[in-house]
Amino acid sequence: MANIIALCNQKGGVGKTTCTLNIGAALHQLGKSVLLIDLDPQAHLTYCLGIAAHELDKTIYDVFTKGAPLSEVVIDKNGLRVIPSTLDLAGVEMELAGVPGREFLLKEFLDRHNTFDYILLDCPPSLGLLTLNALTAVREIYIPLQTEFLALKGMSKLLDTIEAVKKRLNKELAITGIIATRFDARKKLNKGIVDTITERFGKKRFKTLIRENISLAEAPGYGQTIFEYAPKSHGAEDFLALSKEIIKRR
Ligand code: ADP
Ligand code: MG
Repeated sequence: MANIIALCNQKGGVGKTTCTLNIGAALHQLGKSVLLIDLDPQAHLTYCLGIAAHELDKTIYDVFTKGAPLSEVVIDKNGLRVIPSTLDLAGVEMELAGVPGREFLLKEFLDRHNTFDYILLDCPPSLGLLTLNALTAVREIYIPLQTEFLALKGMSKLLDTIEAVKKRLNKELAITGIIATRFDARKKLNKGIVDTITERFGKKRFKTLIRENISLAEAPGYGQTIFEYAPKSHGAEDFLALSKEIIKRR
């Protein structure tokens, strides 16, 4: 049975995609079989892996709208498997408006393809149907939080959504990890925010802090993971440490 984890935060730019990609790559390096799913119509994860979303025949869109099987939509990137996204995904909410059970389409798909060690879902920066599909399909949510001013702002909306899903659609859902991202030890503010996050979430916060690291921002431009682009960088070091923590928590 796969550990299926949604990386979720309706705020954009907090590090969801960077975390999904590089946790996935680290877990793969540590010998785990990994499937990444890009659930964002902006297809950042897809582009970060050097896959041209606009040239693809089949994507996660076809899973939602046509029930496409894994074999038709999965791409192998140096052993890391990914289901890419496309801009068309933005229309899925409207297209599926009348479809009963539309919140469970991803869950049904993943129930049929549960053969990976880890499946990571890169959620879009909204709490619409795509995120809802992620939240019904997983037991675990990781929330990346940027260690900046207003890090926790907007969290109550996310927590309310998670509670509502838990109550009505998926009793097993839980926030199991908080990832503090873009940490800069030189900034007093950043340390303060980490303390605030720890007060709020206790042991759910992973001990590893993902530091601000230029290589993490550069790697996507080359379609590479941090381990391909800069294996000796702080970014690579942090994501490897984080992924070991993830494995250890099992
Ligand atoms: P989200 O998916 O939540 O919108 P991203 O992962 O796309 O966030 O990150 C937003 C931007 O910040 C991207 O340009 C990314 O390269 C950059 N970024 C993310 N994490 C870091 C980090 N630890 N250090 C430096 N840049 C980062
Ligand atoms: Mg993203």
